[in-house]
Amino acid sequence: MTDPAFPAQQQPPGLTGAMDPVPDHGESSYRGSGRLDGLGALITGGDSGIGRAVAIAFAREGADVAIGYLPEEQEDAEETARWVAEAGRTAHLLPGDLTQEHTARALPGRAAEALGGLDVLVNNAGFQMARRDSFEDVTTDEIDRVLRTNLYALFWVTQAALPHLGDGASIINNSSIQAFQPSTALLDYASTKAAINNLTVNLAAELGPRGIRVNAVAPGPIWTPLQPATQPEEKIEQFGKDTPLGRAGQPAEVAPAFVFLASPSDAGYVSGTVLGVTGGKPVF
Ligand code: NAD
Ligand code: MG
Repeated sequence: MTDPAFPAQQQPPGLTGAMDPVPDHGESSYRGSGRLDGLGALITGGDSGIGRAVAIAFAREGADVAIGYLPEEQEDAEETARWVAEAGRTAHLLPGDLTQEHTARALPGRAAEALGGLDVLVNNAGFQMARRDSFEDVTTDEIDRVLRTNLYALFWVTQAALPHLGDGASIINNSSIQAFQPSTALLDYASTKAAINNLTVNLAAELGPRGIRVNAVAPGPIWTPLQPATQPEEKIEQFGKDTPLGRAGQPAEVAPAFVFLASPSDAGYVSGTVLGVTGGKPVF
């Protein structure tokens, strides 16, 4: 066996502090250049992982951010807020369980009120749980959590955000390599990510006439709290080694794709696309 990519570990519900090694969110590397100056962004799941890296990058590009997250991940959300404040921008912390329709539908209004408007919606919150038993044994509760978090919440949050999004605004959904190369152990999760790709293209068509761009980022294996909390140890030890680049990515390596898609000057004619950040795995 080759050297492990990461030491074996399990630590639900998925907090950053317990990870070995701690992920790189761009704290010491991301340099902004005013590409999102004066914008307001709502980032669901912005407490940790890819969402935290996006929040840090957006803030360094000049945006204020509102962050949705699970209440039990408060300490991670506060750490993200500290980095945003250090960039001279404001972070509004909006905890709430997005599998609850009223909570999900209320989030964009809370964000728009706190930010004084809304220019960018990043639908990033997500959940997976690797399946150890056979397909027939997956319970409705398990299916429900994955579909409600990854799909229903995305519908609810996006619907409620639209009254606040004007000409020039954009929506960025977090998809996955799992939409293109699904793992049997993540069958339910993978199906939601394929649906998110389909929805991204379709919403881009519907919202284009309103001047709203809709895109997705499809990350490959990225070192975030979600992984050690939901994958068996033997998977974590080899995490990312099956990519052409031979390693997992860091959240800091995904965030620039979100910055590009959010930027009206850089990506003003980019809509309906799925941008892969996969370490070389194909996204077509
Ligand atoms: P993460 O655990 O750091 O982030 C996911 C966040 O979603 C959590 O921090 C949590 O606050 C939020 N969340 C989950 N359920 C929620 C709920 N019911 N209500 C409110 N918030 C909720 O992990 P991550 O890997 O950064 O995940 C971010 C996104 O990236 C997810 O959509 C995931 O599917 C996607 N993704 C991750 C990888 C990877 O390898 N890490 C690969 C492809 C796609
Ligand atoms: Mg988290």
